[in-house]
Amino acid sequence: MIVVMKAGSTQKQIDHVIERVREMGLKDHVIVGTERTVVACIGNDRFKDRSALETVDGVEKVVPILAPYKMASREMKKERSVVPLIHGQDKSATIGGTKVGVIAGPCSVENKAQLLEIAHAVREAGAVGLRGGAFKPRTSPYAFQGLAEEGLKYLAMAREATGLAVVTEVMAVEQVELVGQYADVLQVGARNMQNFNLLNAVGEQPKPVLLKRGLSATLEEFLLAAEYIMSRGNPNVMLCERGIRTYEEYVRNTLALAAVPALHRVSHLPVVVDPSQGTGKSHLVDSMCRAAVAAGADGLIIEVHNDPEHALTDGAQSITPPMFKDMMKAIRRIAAAVDREV
Ligand code: PEP
Ligand code: MN
Repeated sequence: MIVVMKAGSTQKQIDHVIERVREMGLKDHVIVGTERTVVACIGNDRFKDRSALETVDGVEKVVPILAPYKMASREMKKERSVVPLIHGQDKSATIGGTKVGVIAGPCSVENKAQLLEIAHAVREAGAVGLRGGAFKPRTSPYAFQGLAEEGLKYLAMAREATGLAVVTEVMAVEQVELVGQYADVLQVGARNMQNFNLLNAVGEQPKPVLLKRGLSATLEEFLLAAEYIMSRGNPNVMLCERGIRTYEEYVRNTLALAAVPALHRVSHLPVVVDPSQGTGKSHLVDSMCRAAVAAGADGLIIEVHNDPEHALTDGAQSITPPMFKDMMKAIRRIAAAVDREV
């Protein structure tokens, strides 16, 4: 449930509400809005007496949150969330709000020269984040598994050289600390969307999280996965629609763009679209980027490679730096048409 404070309620009144919430065995989470403050009560409140809070000074009303996810829900927070990509630094590197943030880079970090060349190219074209996997979740155990810490070091070098925020995947609880030392944003991959221990672990560290939708996850399961992270204290979650498994074989995954407005309707979290995993084909990426921006996406994460033919992973869906530059030009026009900016 959420306790909606009256406009102009005092800090003392808010503190008193927090005290009462804790007495009820619930966790408090204060959200200061533009007009009023709300105190969200987290935990199983099914058998708690709401009326006990309703009579407290400064309280306007107490309302139950109907959605099974609470902190991720629109009921909890009406205003859309903006997630900063680089902690306390470059204020323009954000996802959400009026800007559409673009994260781009190779599927995998392959070597230093490759990563730096791509990083400079995407930065020049207007990206705010650099993607690149150092730990790769591969279907086959014989496929390239990533450079691990060596790859993370190259990513940190590329951030130094370009100022781009580093977005990279963490596959296991034991990797969270290491990846957190190098990355600005921790990516939880589609195959790990319901790895609840991993969700808890990224929820307990300070870096923002890019959470990818599971291959066959419903939107409710997706939001409950976000809720795991948020309920552990990390509010900076971005939802990433990366396509789902269907019977269609032409594309690698079916990019469910309706998820963008659907998620916006029920959640305040920013939504990022990945047209690369979402289609599996480089010639479809440009159109899907444009469609995603038109549908209201808050960000894009795109695979860009300087030599897709020889890419160690996902070459078929990687676009080249010139293609990326053209795509950026196109989405700037689309963004303007929907009152956004790239
Ligand atoms: C990736 O981003 O390269 C990746 C493996 O993504 P997903 O988890 O969406 O398959
Ligand atoms: Mn990939």
